[in-house]
Amino acid sequence: MEIIVKRGIFPRFILPKLKMNFRFVDISFSFVNNNGKMDCKMSNKEYKMFQVCVQMHFDAAHFIRNYDGKCANLHGHRWNVVVCIEGRELDDLGMLIDFSEVKKAMRKSLTLLDHSLLNDLPSFGPQGVNPTAEHLAQFMFRELQNDLVLGDKRLAWVKIYESPDTWTIFKED
Ligand SMILES: [Zn+2]
Repeated sequence: MEIIVKRGIFPRFILPKLKMNFRFVDISFSFVNNNGKMDCKMSNKEYKMFQVCVQMHFDAAHFIRNYDGKCANLHGHRWNVVVCIEGRELDDLGMLIDFSEVKKAMRKSLTLLDHSLLNDLPSFGPQGVNPTAEHLAQFMFRELQNDLVLGDKRLAWVKIYESPDTWTIFKED
């Protein structure tokens, strides 16, 4: 069974619980007065979406304030960062965005973090938030949103691996 649903009708967290296949479309309705009866005409356009993702890494130390466990001790990670841009339209070359543009913006942000003690940075110091992978992903997202010129594309998500087996994703809904 397939139901066509306009994006935004249901909060996204409900959709997986409905156990049906959804196809997302743009739907517009127009109402026409037909001899006193209201006819509803519907048009729709199928969604298409490309995602372009780039992975880079940086090395940095941190400790988690007020944490009850080993992570409260100073230690380091090689943080892998994956950034994903999404959009529906490709340019004349068939690209959503040039990988090199994404890499350039990522390099700028990663330079701030590489070989640092994250807790020393204003965003993650005593006046800032704890330098968890979650907050790092949010920080990268905000930096890239400022630095990338995206036009009709958008920054879909930023994923940060604290280890090969553990990662976090930040995105805006
Ligand atoms: Zn850690």
